Amino acid sequence: MTLVSSTPLLQTARANGYCIGAFNVHTLEMLQAVVEAAEETESPLIIQSTVGTVKHLGADYIAAAAEVASRNVKVPIALHLDHCMDLSTIVQCIRAGYTSVMIDASHSPFEENVRQTKQVVELAKAIGINVEAELGKVGGVEDDIVVADNEALMADPDECAKFVELTGVPTLAPAIGTAHGIYKGEPKIDFDRIAKIAAKVSVPLVLHGGSGIPEEQVRKCVALGMAKMNVATELRIVFSDAIKEVFAANPEENDPRKYMIPAKRALKEAAIEKMRLCGSIGRAKDFR
Ligand SMILES: [Zn+2]
Repeated sequence: MTLVSSTPLLQTARANGYCIGAFNVHTLEMLQAVVEAAEETESPLIIQSTVGTVKHLGADYIAAAAEVASRNVKVPIALHLDHCMDLSTIVQCIRAGYTSVMIDASHSPFEENVRQTKQVVELAKAIGINVEAELGKVGGVEDDIVVADNEALMADPDECAKFVELTGVPTLAPAIGTAHGIYKGEPKIDFDRIAKIAAKVSVPLVLHGGSGIPEEQVRKCVALGMAKMNVATELRIVFSDAIKEVFAANPEENDPRKYMIPAKRALKEAAIEKMRLCGSIGRAKDFR
């Protein structure tokens, strides 16, 4: 089927107590790997790209590849632009065929975040695609966005309610203690905060920094209302490690298929593992 908006996917996931994996891809093979994982496990899927990857590959190439992949399978797939801070890239991606965009104005004061988010929500509503916005500041490094540990800021539950009411944003990413990249030790997730936010906000919530969160903590987040889990770093590492292994065994290798095929296989397995953790396996049936 053709690419779909992630709004109904995430609303259904939240209503049914599971979560949908949103996987960052950087190459055609990575995109194919996560789609194969979704198809094989009957799992709904969100393919994500960062602004950096849009600059690297081109929004039109990514959207065209995602559209072809989506048409070849029966599971619902959305294409999402992760952490975007500028309207022009958002418009560029929407025009290319993205079905979901994140406007990240979380570094600005609350009123400015509301203003920018509202602008994107109005645009997206007119064409029936999803919008995600962030409140608080998720720590770590994502593309060019760097937030030091002492600058990371948790989202306030009352502000979350006010933000959703003022902007009409259909998906919210509240900072609740996770971080981008790989954790040193365990993440310090504020489960009470998630519960309070979920009690005040009925839209699906998004868990950023999904690489390396211990299983039981992911399950707890999902049970509390997290309906989308972003995973980037962990998948990148799995993909790259498989390539490194090929070159370690054969430094002279010069056929891209010889290292891309094992990398694709490794990424597909890792994506299936995340889908299992999210509880999304077999849930494609919810959208038929
Ligand atoms: Zn993020």
